[in-house]
Amino acid sequence: RAKKNLSQNYEFYSSEMEEQMAGRLALLRTLRQDFSQDKLQLWYQPQIALDTNKVIGMEALLRWPTEQGGFISPAVFIPLAEYSGLIVEIGAWVIQQACQQIKLLQSHGLMDLRIAVNVSMPQFRNPLFVQSVIDCIERFGVAPELLELEITESVVMDEPKMVIDALNRLKSYGIKVAIDDFGIGFSSLSYLQQLPLDRIKVDRAFIRDLAEPNGTVIAETIINLGKKLGLATIAEGIETVEQAEVVRAMGCEEVQGFLYAKPMPTAALLEFLRANKA
Ligand code: C2E
Ligand code: MG
Ligand code: MG
Ligand code: MG
Repeated sequence: RAKKNLSQNYEFYSSEMEEQMAGRLALLRTLRQDFSQDKLQLWYQPQIALDTNKVIGMEALLRWPTEQGGFISPAVFIPLAEYSGLIVEIGAWVIQQACQQIKLLQSHGLMDLRIAVNVSMPQFRNPLFVQSVIDCIERFGVAPELLELEITESVVMDEPKMVIDALNRLKSYGIKVAIDDFGIGFSSLSYLQQLPLDRIKVDRAFIRDLAEPNGTVIAETIINLGKKLGLATIAEGIETVEQAEVVRAMGCEEVQGFLYAKPMPTAALLEFLRANKA
């Protein structure tokens, strides 16, 4: 009887898993098709200097529109793209779009604005990755310090030596490097000094905690750590004036979050930047 139950359970889970797998494969097929048909979009979320309230740059974020007028969350399709390797091609497109966008902003008189792009592990595994980023920058004639690569702790921990080596080469060319979602991964504290970083992004989770009792400890520690290492710190996911004031008091210089702006397509970004400049 127990055996029967077990096998029933097994069948139940197995068919559910099969269904899930089939669903993911179908989604991946659609992603591949939509990407090849130029249907992915790159949106931009402004990053603001707390002392001047001016935009200093933006983070590029992928958007995958559906036929129904909505979007499929990057939390759903980025892991699929990473797992399948498609992220290598998509990521190259993202970097190219970002370089093009920097030139576009400059043609509108919006100079010195940096664009940060997220980079996944499979991109680093490509031995031509570093050169392809440099080639892209040269092809568009972009100042390298206007491009920033965001990597997460998990990317570093996966293959520290290889990633540190690639980042060193990018860094010596002038490209900026930020560590994203800092503090939520398995701590890469031991690698922090070896990483050629410019900026630490305090994860949204610690900003959300700021209102809790003892909720300020982690954010403050990360900001102090950044300071001691001579790095810029940016707080992600700022949604309230109170959160902005708390991180400012802690010595954080830069912020990004819905309080200031949500990610937006190019036309809206241009308007936002013009208004912010004035
Ligand atoms: P991330 O790099 O940590 O990006 C920040 C995420 O926080 C974005 O979610 C952004 O829309 C969201 N966010 C910003 N401010 C706020 C706020 O005040 N409140 C809240 N609730 N959320 C805020 P998004 O666009 O859904 O992207 C999710 C993740 O997907 C990104 O996290 C990044 O890991 C990944 N991703 C997005 N675009 C790319 C890409 O081009 N390449 C790669 N490899 N990953 C990407
Ligand atoms: Mg990011
Ligand atoms: Mg982040
Ligand atoms: Mg994230």
